[in-house]
Amino acid sequence: MSTRYRLASLLTLAVLAAAPAHAAWLSRGVDGIMGTRIYVELWAEDKDKARGEEAIDAVMDEMRHIDESMSVYKPTSEVSKVNALAATQPVKISAELFALLTTALEYSRITEGAFDITYASVGYMYDFRARQRPTEQQIQAALPAVNYKHVLLDAGTSTVRFSQPGVRIDLGGIAKGYAVDCGVEILRARGFTHVLVNAGGDSRVLGDRFGKPWIIGIRHPDHPDEIVTRVPLTDAAFSTSGDYERYFDEDGVRYHHIIDPHTGHSASKVRSATVIASTATRTDGLSKTAFVLGPDEAMRIYNALDDVDAILVAPDGRILYSKGLEPAGPPVHSPSESRK
Ligand code: ADP
Ligand code: MG
Repeated sequence: MSTRYRLASLLTLAVLAAAPAHAAWLSRGVDGIMGTRIYVELWAEDKDKARGEEAIDAVMDEMRHIDESMSVYKPTSEVSKVNALAATQPVKISAELFALLTTALEYSRITEGAFDITYASVGYMYDFRARQRPTEQQIQAALPAVNYKHVLLDAGTSTVRFSQPGVRIDLGGIAKGYAVDCGVEILRARGFTHVLVNAGGDSRVLGDRFGKPWIIGIRHPDHPDEIVTRVPLTDAAFSTSGDYERYFDEDGVRYHHIIDPHTGHSASKVRSATVIASTATRTDGLSKTAFVLGPDEAMRIYNALDDVDAILVAPDGRILYSKGLEPAGPPVHSPSESRK
C-alpha cells in the first residue's frame, strides 16, 4: 500500500491493552494556537521520554511559527502583508508560503472552485462570534474579487500578485491541516512511530495504537456527545468540517464559517464532511467541498481521487460513504430480499 492511507478492515473499538511499564503514551494539549487547541500524543519508551517531551515542544513551536506567518488576524503575518499589498504590486514571499499557496490553488482546481482561499474577499465581513454578516449589497459588491484565478504566483521571483483590487486570501481552510503534517514530520524525523497530531478539525496518525487501529468518531451535527459512525485508521490523515463549529442562527437560517465562493453565503449542502487521505493538508483542502457542491458532486470528485475517502452527513441526517468505505465481501441480504 503506497501513498494510500490504511483503513483497517474491522469496525471494532480498539481495546486498550495494559501498557508495559517501560513505555507510555505522552500527551499534551495547548490552547490558543491557530485559534484552536493543538493536541499531540506519542508512544515513547522510558529512555525516550525526555526526547518525547522535547519533540512535543518542537511541534508546538512549529505550530506557533505557522500561526505567526499565516494568520489573517495577526497584522504582522506574511499573509496580512500579502493582503495589504498584492493588489498593487508583486509581493515576495517565503518558500513555505509559496508552496502552500500553490497547493491551495491546486485544490481549487480539483474541487472545481469549491475550495477557494479568496472566499475571504467576502468572508472577512462575517464575524460569527459577534453575529455579524454582510448585507446582500455588500456581498454583491465584493463577490467579483472571489476567484482563485485572481491569485498569480511567479515561481521565478517567488512572488504573489492579485490581478485586481478587493482580493483577500485566508488560509483558515488549509493551514491547520498543513501544520498537522509539519508536526507529524517533526515527530517522525525524531524516530517516533506511534503518533497523533490534532489541530481543531484536522488530524493525522502514524502507526497504530497497541496493535489496533486508531478509532475516529464522527459526531452528530446537533448533539456533540453523540457519535454517528466510527472509522478505524492506521497511518492516515482526516479532517472534519461542520456547520456547527463557528456559526450563529438568525430567523431560522444558520450562518456559518464555510462560504460558497459563488454566492458569498454560507454553504449548507451538507451538515458535516469528513475526508480521509494520507496527508492533513489534503484532507483539510478537500473537506469544504461537499458543503459547496453537495453530496453527489462532492462524492464524484472524492471517488475520482484514488487516495481519498469521505463520510458526509446530509441535511436530512443520512450518512453517505465514498466507494472505498463501502463494506467488502458479499452483499448483505435482508430476509425479504433473499426470498425473492
Ligand atoms: P477548521 O477551522 O475547524 O479546521 P474547516 O477545515 O472546516 O474548519 O475550515 C473552515 C475554514 O475554512 C473557515 O473558517 C474559513 O477560514 C475557511 N473557508 C471557508 N470557506 C472556504 C472556502 N470556500 N474555501 C476555502 N476556505 C474556506
Ligand atoms: Mg480544517
